[in-house]
Amino acid sequence: MPLFGHNDFDAHEQVVFCHDAASGLKAIIAIHDTTRGPALGGCRMWPYASEDEALTDALRLARGMTYKSALADLPYGGGKAVIIGDSHTMKSEALFLAMGRFVDTLGGRYVIAEDVGISVEDVEVMARATSHVAGTRAAGAGDPSPATAYGVLMGIRAAVAHKLGRDTLNGVHVAVQGLGHVGHHLCHGLAEAGARLTVSDIDADAVAHACTEFSAASVAPEAIYDVATDVFAPCALGAVIDDETIPRLQARVIAGSANNQLAEPRHGVALARRGILYAPDYVINAGGVVFISHEGPSFNEAEAFAHVARIRDTLGEIFTRAEQQDIPTSEAADHLAQDRLRGHSAAA
Ligand code: NAD
Repeated sequence: MPLFGHNDFDAHEQVVFCHDAASGLKAIIAIHDTTRGPALGGCRMWPYASEDEALTDALRLARGMTYKSALADLPYGGGKAVIIGDSHTMKSEALFLAMGRFVDTLGGRYVIAEDVGISVEDVEVMARATSHVAGTRAAGAGDPSPATAYGVLMGIRAAVAHKLGRDTLNGVHVAVQGLGHVGHHLCHGLAEAGARLTVSDIDADAVAHACTEFSAASVAPEAIYDVATDVFAPCALGAVIDDETIPRLQARVIAGSANNQLAEPRHGVALARRGILYAPDYVINAGGVVFISHEGPSFNEAEAFAHVARIRDTLGEIFTRAEQQDIPTSEAADHLAQDRLRGHSAAA
């Protein structure tokens, strides 16, 4: 398993493999870029089929965090941690304390927060071993998921205005994949705005709950790609946009919270060719990191949410740039992020 020769290696500054025999912790911390500040990024716990799969996820997610922070104008770089293991059976206090100790050895170059499989409570256990944590209740902000969902809602508004020429979500049909921390809050915002919902999740209770609470229709997990809908909102796991799903999609807009939605960069090109407007994942799902960037003694929730709402303008700029330059939105977002990183280096 090469690192410097890995397909997803993109000049990452540092990659740390962590092992703690006593607790069974196996983790990877990837720091992509600290030009703008400490590498901030969540920690994911997932039963990866191989170490290479875990490394790939860490490398890609860390780079996405660099671009996310640059486009959200945050004083952070990009990093990410993955814990290899089943979050339903392998969590323990010792495991998270060990993870916290590893984060601490990096002296603040990496700041850890929650992600898939990791809760705010888990991060709070890590916080007993390191001060380099974000998104805990003690820090004043707490669970970032509602802010992420709000940012996605703002992004859906921007995409619907651009692609469908509609300035309201009333009557717009949205298919939401994944009803976890973000998906559930997103459904709430969409229902409140008058959108019509079709949902799917592998967790039958979450589906039943959403159908009752939001008058949503539901489909089996695999069928969500075939729904005749205006907007497809992937809010579960990554790599759902691929050679198999793109021809099936009937949505005109893809706008959801999941990280790494495109299986490969070329799928951004394929979406543009099919005339589907894609809201680049790391732009539309920045709400959580924006929110926790506001935490501290003077935390002001209204100010944090106002900052999150700027995602709508950033996406508008990306959609216009993509159209003017006749490039996929995924590329337009990368270019804008790289411009901002270069601008920051030049100013420093
Ligand atoms: P979560 O673990 O709370 O929810 C994920 C949901 O997806 C679960 O309900 C799970 O059952 C469901 N799911 C898994 N596989 C599925 C499938 N094949 N079909 C349908 N549903 C499936 O995670 P979350 O915090 O809600 O995050 C969702 C996504 O958004 C992730 O990709 C995460 O990286 C990304 N994200 C989250 C945040 C945040 O603030 N929580 C911030 C940025 C990005």
